[in-house]
Amino acid sequence: QAKNSGRNTFQVFLPEMNIRAVERQSIEQALHRALEQHKFLLHYQPKVNLDTGAITGAEALIRMQETDDQLVYPMNFITIAEESGLILPIGRWALREACRQAKAWLEAGLDIGQIAVNVSSREFHSKDFLEGLIAILNETGLDPGHLELEMTESGLMQDTEPTTVLLHALKKLGVHIAIDDFGTGYSSLSYLMRFPIDTLKIDRSFVRDLDDDDTGFSGEAIVSAVIAMGSSLKQRVVAEGIETQHQLAFLQSHHCVEGQGFYFSRPVPADEFAALLAARGAH
Ligand code: C2E
Ligand code: MG
Ligand code: MG
Ligand code: MG
Repeated sequence: QAKNSGRNTFQVFLPEMNIRAVERQSIEQALHRALEQHKFLLHYQPKVNLDTGAITGAEALIRMQETDDQLVYPMNFITIAEESGLILPIGRWALREACRQAKAWLEAGLDIGQIAVNVSSREFHSKDFLEGLIAILNETGLDPGHLELEMTESGLMQDTEPTTVLLHALKKLGVHIAIDDFGTGYSSLSYLMRFPIDTLKIDRSFVRDLDDDDTGFSGEAIVSAVIAMGSSLKQRVVAEGIETQHQLAFLQSHHCVEGQGFYFSRPVPADEFAALLAARGAH
C-alpha cells in the first residue's frame, strides 16, 4: 500500500516486492495462528564440557509446527516476529516454556545445569521485560541460577545506560547472561568489561573458519583471542557450531572449556534431551 506517498509521487512496485509483502503477511498470520493454537515448541541443544564430554546445560531453540510433519525454523520467522512486535508474546512464551521444562527436569532429578534462552533486543528493551521474567520465575518456581539469557552484542550496545541497570538487576536476581554470536557485532570493549556478563559465545562462523587452511586473517586468531579475553575477564567461553574433530582439537588445545554443535548433538526435542541427560547420569 502506497498510503504514505504524496499526491505527486509515484510508488513503483516490482513484482518481487509484492511477493515479499505477501510472504511477510502470510508469515505474520502464521505466527498469530501459532500463538493461538500453541504451535510453537522448543528444541534443546546440549552444551558440553570439551574436556570431559559432560553436559553442562542446553540452549532452547524455538520452532514452529506448521503441519504434523513440518517444522519451521527461526531463520524463516524471527526477523518478521521482531519487526512486527510479535516477538514479545513469542519470546514470553519461549521463556515461560523453557523455565517450566527446566523446573520439571529438576523435579525429576535431572542435573540440567543451565538452560539458555535467546532474547531479542526488542524483548530485552521492552518496558516490562524484568517484571515479566520475575513473574515467570515465580509462576514456574525455577531457581534463577538455572537460567541463562543469550543476547547479541548489538542488543546490549543499544541504550547502554538502561542496559547496564537491567543487567545488574538480572545479576542480582541470579540469572546468568551470555553474549551470543560474539565477535560478529560491534561491542565496545569498555562496556563489555563493565557489564556483568557471565558467558561469551564464540560465533560459529569463526569456529567454521578453523577448518579453512587459508593463512592470515583466520578463525584461529579470533577464536584464541576470545578465549584469552574470556579467561582474563573471568567469563565462561562457549564455542558455537562445533562440527568436526579438528575444530574440537583446536579448542581443547586453547583451553576453551565449553562448546556446542552438531559434533555433539543437534538440537533435539525435550524428551530426547532428557534421555541424553539420563544416559550421562548412568555412567
Ligand atoms: P543462535 O542463538 O546463535 O543459535 C544457534 C543456532 O546454530 C541454532 O540455529 C542451532 O541449531 C545452530 N547450530 C548449532 N550447532 C550447529 C552446528 O554445529 N552447525 C551449524 N551449521 N549450526 C549449528 P536455529 O535453531 O535455527 O536458531 C537460529 C537463531 O534463531 C538463533 O541463533 C537465535 O538467534 C534465534 N532464536 C532461536 N530460538 C529463539 C527464541 O526462542 N527467541 C529468540 N528471540 N530468538 C531465537
Ligand atoms: Mg543463542
Ligand atoms: Mg549464536
Ligand atoms: Mg544467531
